[in-house]
Amino acid sequence: TKIGIDAGGTLIKTAYIENERIQYRSFPSQAIDDAIKWLHDYFEKPAICVTGGRSQVLAKKLNVPAKTVVEFDATTEGITYLAGPQTLGRQFLFVNVGTGTSIHHVTDGRQERIGGSGIGGGTLLGLAYLTTGMQDYEEIVRAASDGNREHVDLKVKDIFEGLLPPISGDLTASNFGKAEWMREHKPSDSDMLAAIIGLIGEVIVTISTQAAAQYDTGAIVYIGSSFRSNPLLQDILVAYTRLVGKEPVFLPNGEYSGAIGALLAI
Ligand code: ADP
Repeated sequence: TKIGIDAGGTLIKTAYIENERIQYRSFPSQAIDDAIKWLHDYFEKPAICVTGGRSQVLAKKLNVPAKTVVEFDATTEGITYLAGPQTLGRQFLFVNVGTGTSIHHVTDGRQERIGGSGIGGGTLLGLAYLTTGMQDYEEIVRAASDGNREHVDLKVKDIFEGLLPPISGDLTASNFGKAEWMREHKPSDSDMLAAIIGLIGEVIVTISTQAAAQYDTGAIVYIGSSFRSNPLLQDILVAYTRLVGKEPVFLPNGEYSGAIGALLAI
C-alpha cells in the first residue's frame, strides 16, 4: 500500500489508497507512537513517503525505509490534485493555516513562499487555554459557536456613535478593544473564544488579501486543520476575501494536501 504522511507540529496527517480510493487518517503529533504502531500493524508492505517539519522524527521510528519530500512542494501537488486540473487557473495563492500560517504563490504548478504569520491554529489552542482553561479542540470550537464577539471586540460603529463612519460600521475597529465595557460585563468563555477566532481570522485574511492584491491573483485557497469543525473561522475568511474582490476556495480534505502530495511522490 502507498501511504503519504505529513508530520506537522500539531497533527500527523496520512493519506493512503484503499479500495481504489484515497483514505485519510490523522493523529495528534504527541501520539506519534500510536501512528507508527498503526502503520506497522495495519499495512502489509507499505511504501511510505513523508513530509512536514517532523518528517525526520517519524521516518527514524519506522521499521521500513521511507522517502521524504519537501513540504511546500508536496502541499502544492496535493492542492492541485484536490482542486482538479485547471480549476485554479495559471496562478493562485494558497494559505496554510496550521499551527502557524504560511502563504504561498503558485504559478504554473510551482510555489514560492511569500509570507506567513505566527498567528494560526496554535494561537487558538494557546489563547483558549489561557483564557478559559479548555484544552480539547472540539470543545473549544463548539463553545466558540455560541459566543458573541460584540461583548469583546470594538466595532467601528461603537466609536462613531450616531455619526456616519467613513468605512463600514460593522468592521472591527479593535480586536478585544472593549476593555471598558468588559470591566463591567465580564464576557463568557464562549464570547472570548469567538473573539479569539475572530482575531486569528482577521489577521490571516488581512495579510492574505494584501498578498493576493500584490500578486494580482484571483483565487485564495485556504487549507489546514484549523478549519476543521470551525465554520466561524471559515466564515470570516469567506466574507472578507470576497469583500476585496478575491475568491476564497476551501477544498474538502484540504488539510491533507501535504499528505496527498507525499502519496503522489511515491
Ligand atoms: P500542522 O501541520 O502544523 O500540525 P495542521 O494543519 O494540522 O498543522 O493544523 C493544526 C491546527 O488544527 C491546530 O493548531 C488546531 O487549531 C486545529 N485542530 C484541528 N483538529 C485538531 C485536533 N483534533 N487536535 C488539535 N488541534 C486540532
